[in-house]
Amino acid sequence: MTFGYRRSYRGRIRAVLLDWAGTTMDFGCMAPAVVFVKVFERAGVPITMDEARAPMGAHKRVHIQKLTEQDAVRARWQARHGRPPGEADVDRMFADFVPLQLECLSEYSTLIPGTLEVVGALRARDVKLGSTTGYLREMMAINLADAKAQGYEPDATVCASDVPAGRPYPYMCLQNMLDLRVWPVEACVKVDDTLPGIEEGLNAGMWTVGLAVSGNEVGLPLAAWQALPPAEQQARRERAYGRLRMGGAHYVVDTIADLLPCLDDVDARLARGEKP
Ligand SMILES: [Mg+2]
Repeated sequence: MTFGYRRSYRGRIRAVLLDWAGTTMDFGCMAPAVVFVKVFERAGVPITMDEARAPMGAHKRVHIQKLTEQDAVRARWQARHGRPPGEADVDRMFADFVPLQLECLSEYSTLIPGTLEVVGALRARDVKLGSTTGYLREMMAINLADAKAQGYEPDATVCASDVPAGRPYPYMCLQNMLDLRVWPVEACVKVDDTLPGIEEGLNAGMWTVGLAVSGNEVGLPLAAWQALPPAEQQARRERAYGRLRMGGAHYVVDTIADLLPCLDDVDARLARGEKP
């Protein structure tokens, strides 16, 4: 045989997997950032909001560990405690983190504008709705209840604590496929506001859409974003677009409200036999 033949999926998108904080709720992805800052303050080594946001998307214990690995944080820890931070410090701060996060989640659980409209449109297209998150199960119980009260209820939710490893590993995305009974993988789209969340989707073999303005990359609540002068908005928007594009996202848009044209384009590419 001189020629081989490659099978290609020509159907439509079957599932969209949405992240939580910074994607469907909590404009600016504020809830975790605020608590990471508080936990390090309690440990005697204050960190900035920007430092706190760097590993966003990871399992929350892994996030704390990654914060202790930042050079500047290590140096300040050494200066304050006379030794570098270790595993026991990470454990202690994670134990501190959990109740603080549970306590304030509902203050930040307002849905991001456009979420309900987009979810309604996807339902009308018979697209399944999955979700992934770096939050633990007990935290998601709060977010799920708050989302439901506002009219948003995805068909599946997988937490970092439900799988062997969180982002950037693909397991949460793949578990969604099992829970939703949806395949093939190229019929799935992962939507996220963080680089590890985009990488998670890419590692699973899915299409990915990065959200630049509503999440961790700009890192401002809706009112603060709207109050920025247009030039400042544009500068922050461009920086976020660049980072998410360099992170490999197939599409980057401002917020979930802008998602549908990306999905139309993915449908067109699938019809042509393209893969992510
Ligand atoms: Mg997020």
